[in-house]
Amino acid sequence: MLEETEARRRILERTSPGSVIWVPLELSLDQVLAQEIVAVTDSPPFDNSSMDGYAVRAAEARDGAVLRVAEWTQAAGADLGLELIPGEAIRIFTGASIPAGCDAVIMQEDVEREGDFITIREGVERGENIRVRGGDVCTGQILLRRGEVLTPAKIGLLASQGIPEVPVYTKPLAHIVTTGDELVEPGAPLLPGEIYNSNAPMLQTAVIRAGAVGGVSHAIDDPAELREVLAGALAASDLVIIAGGVSVGERDYVKEVLEGLGVVTEFWRVKVKPGKPFLFGTHPDGTLVFGVPGNPVSAYVTFALFVAPVIRRLLGHETEPSSVGLGTLSGLAEEAMHNPGDRPHYLRGICENGRVRLSGTQQSHAIYGLSRANCLIRLEAGQEVAPGEAVPCYWI
Ligand code: AMP
Ligand code: MG
Repeated sequence: MLEETEARRRILERTSPGSVIWVPLELSLDQVLAQEIVAVTDSPPFDNSSMDGYAVRAAEARDGAVLRVAEWTQAAGADLGLELIPGEAIRIFTGASIPAGCDAVIMQEDVEREGDFITIREGVERGENIRVRGGDVCTGQILLRRGEVLTPAKIGLLASQGIPEVPVYTKPLAHIVTTGDELVEPGAPLLPGEIYNSNAPMLQTAVIRAGAVGGVSHAIDDPAELREVLAGALAASDLVIIAGGVSVGERDYVKEVLEGLGVVTEFWRVKVKPGKPFLFGTHPDGTLVFGVPGNPVSAYVTFALFVAPVIRRLLGHETEPSSVGLGTLSGLAEEAMHNPGDRPHYLRGICENGRVRLSGTQQSHAIYGLSRANCLIRLEAGQEVAPGEAVPCYWI
């Protein structure tokens, strides 16, 4: 059985960021920038007023001075090409370009207006209330580096440069195949012996949350049907995630059917609980294949530990095999915890205010406890934790 980190290392070494695609800004949120972006224009692109007021020559706008208001007003929008005549002030509004001959803007609150004249209550310095061209960004400056995650503010920055599209990595297509005779889709009636398929929507949305595009199919425990469904999934996707049927039961056909379709099993079984029967395979056409246990908790945990990091790397995020790939935090145990087994155990927990407790029953079918959990608590093989001791936790 492989150690967890070694398993992740072997998967990640088969993975590199996908091809680069240009997407409109509004579709780029949370994606990783695939190329450096350099400023193509100064920002602001021209000297402009930061206030509503009067554009003046500072030397003439001393305390108590009286200036005549010019006939034309400069508002934000088209630059009228106005020029200041000595002894005059030009009415101006926020964002408007500064007329020739002006070197300051006096706030309208700082003058008294009577007819066509203003009396200056408080004089201005040169440059006051003027946002100078290039004062925020200069042409040629590096704005964003490859690998940065696009946020609304960075998207706004690109827009301010007149850039409508941005290069990111193509979202991988991940297809989920659930397996099992006992499974029924939510919405349909349940016959004795049957259960609802919770893995399909859970893994599909986990895939979407990780940043990939997700599709789903289901196959009963029949080699012929499984072969047909898996062949279709392999042909159409970058990743295939199969839930259930990878254990050692007589009706666990996934492994042999995959091999029949040309998938090479890179490894099967990882030293981690839940999730021992995890399988990783590769198809000659490059499709990565993951077999996760059917029990929903095991499926979720193995997805988080081994599949989500792959999606993240395909999307251009930095991923280290040694890290679980989930945000870490340390919580002080509110209760005693024990891992009597010989594999690291990821327990489902609730971490609040730096304290962590177990979220309900810890069996691998127990999806209620998983639904309440906000973290996985990692206990090493044989580890006993006393109340008050710190334990490593990972956000889920
Ligand atoms: P398997 O890995 O196929 O042996 O399944 C292990 C357990 O998980 C069995 O109790 C299955 O009924 C259950 N299981 C498998 N697939 C699903 C699923 N998609 N949704 C809910 N439970 C499942
Ligand atoms: Mg099964």
